[in-house]
Amino acid sequence: MIAEIENLTVEYPGVKALENVSFSVNQGDFLGIIGPNGAGKSTLFSCMLGLQKKYHGTIKFFGQDIKKSQNYLKEIGYVPQKPIFEKNFPVTVNDVVRMGLRKESDESKIDEILQQLWIHELRKRRIGELSGGQQQRVFIAKALVNNPKILILDEPVTGIDQQSIDLFYSILTELNSKQNITIIWSSHDLDAVNQLANHVACLNRTLFFHGESDDFFKNPELVKQYSESSMQEHMHHH
Ligand code: ADP
Ligand code: MG
Repeated sequence: MIAEIENLTVEYPGVKALENVSFSVNQGDFLGIIGPNGAGKSTLFSCMLGLQKKYHGTIKFFGQDIKKSQNYLKEIGYVPQKPIFEKNFPVTVNDVVRMGLRKESDESKIDEILQQLWIHELRKRRIGELSGGQQQRVFIAKALVNNPKILILDEPVTGIDQQSIDLFYSILTELNSKQNITIIWSSHDLDAVNQLANHVACLNRTLFFHGESDDFFKNPELVKQYSESSMQEHMHHH
């Protein structure tokens, strides 16, 4: 078992962001976490990454409570929601990927990962000069440079052109199927999750569904019920 989330509840002042969320992730899973804005996806990731420590419930990685040991973090690559750079921000692609590298690791890994993500020719360019899709691949490279077992991505395609999205999806599929990297990916694109993920978690403060992708997407009544409930929540917030 890679990760076990048990009865996770998170309260911000005046807002219950997550309530009694439980699910587990196995080695090799490609898990899509679906949920509308405000569903608690980023909060869930913050807890899993040890950034948000105020929660009720238990989070285990590799069988161990994350409050007892932070060792699991070196097995995780994390791609946060898209940061925005000024055009002249004085950092190159190579610099950004190197920032992800642990000291004891091998520098040659940088070239290897840049090639794998189709950004090797861009390595001397400033990060702010790149398109959204190129920047995204740089941050995936940074997350992968230490050979993590798990890749966590928080709504990674917001504001990126379709061609880059397609390339990004094919990269994720390859990482999962060829390198057996466990992927935990949040998205509000139901179609994309249906196509890529083999497991799905539908989150909307509470967990509406968790299981095999087909058991959700091949059940039209379930999909309809979920879409309606998250739509209502969405209207409520706007
Ligand atoms: P998502 O990533 O699915 O859009 P979030 O986890 O960002 O959802 O937010 C879940 C809920 O918690 C929202 O209602 C949001 O406004 C609230 N929230 C998130 N972060 C904070 C915070 N630091 N302080 C107070 N409320 C927060
Ligand atoms: Mg979020």
